[in-house]
Amino acid sequence: MEQLPYLDYGSVMRRKLGGRMQKLAIDAGFSCPNRDGKVGHGGCTFCLGEAFSPSYCRSSKELTQQIESALRFHASRGRSADYFVAYMQSGSNTYADTLTLERTYNAIISHPAISGLIVGTRPDCITPEILQLLEDISKCKYVAVEYGIESVYDSTLSHVNRGHDFATASYAVAETKARGIDVGAHFIIGLPNESRSDILEGISHINTLGIDFVKFHQLQIYHSTAMEREWNEDPERFLFNHNFNIKEYSELMIDIIRRLSPSIAIERMVSQAPRHLIAHSPLGGIRPDELRNIVISKMQNRGYKQGDLLL
Ligand code: SF4
Repeated sequence: MEQLPYLDYGSVMRRKLGGRMQKLAIDAGFSCPNRDGKVGHGGCTFCLGEAFSPSYCRSSKELTQQIESALRFHASRGRSADYFVAYMQSGSNTYADTLTLERTYNAIISHPAISGLIVGTRPDCITPEILQLLEDISKCKYVAVEYGIESVYDSTLSHVNRGHDFATASYAVAETKARGIDVGAHFIIGLPNESRSDILEGISHINTLGIDFVKFHQLQIYHSTAMEREWNEDPERFLFNHNFNIKEYSELMIDIIRRLSPSIAIERMVSQAPRHLIAHSPLGGIRPDELRNIVISKMQNRGYKQGDLLL
């Protein structure tokens, strides 16, 4: 097997589960406290809910039907896997009473094809009761929680109307890890007012969290969002203003990886969303495997490794 210059999430999961994993995106229809007024109104300024759900996955379909559709979707594209893990990505998937969550999670994990559950949620949307539920499930199936943290800077989190701070994220990660549950985190690269050096300095805060895996996504600005209006008013606030390109993004990603703790598996370096939804994207719809190959090739040619700039 090829020796990669960073800890690859796919390889880590293959070791954990004992074979190749395929995630199945499931939309259980949970809403978000940053939209319904519990935490805030209007949501995060970058958020466009439909950008996160593949076509086979719609919350109106029964969960079992979604799993069956997802299995057919991947089979039709020739994607084989030894293990299928349900991935609850859309919305805040711990935002309901514990009984509702228990019924939902159980409906998913009781499907015979499902070997595990990855629950995407906000860091301020977790309680000891929910963690206990997830811990109980983790005794028979693989479980991970993926927190959308987005930035390590409170000023940025406030600016994008995130509705929580970084301390809340640190606490949620620590409480989840204390239950023996794997934790992932999602960060957006290029949020307003964050410079290249801010992003690189912020990696030390990511290293202190104690997460198991990380996803980095380039900022994509969707049509009809508050962030599109902000971009139109003042694009200079954005690192990815007019001239940012794939070469610069790959170099930034390499600099991030070299500062990232070698114990954190990297799941993604770039995101994709349907083109018709995107108003501005610095990378013009590059595929994750294309960017990944560029980063790997440059790091190998230069003899770089994940974390080699850490003291
Ligand atoms: S927390 Fe997630 S679902 Fe809610 S508004 Fe923000 S990005 Fe959208």
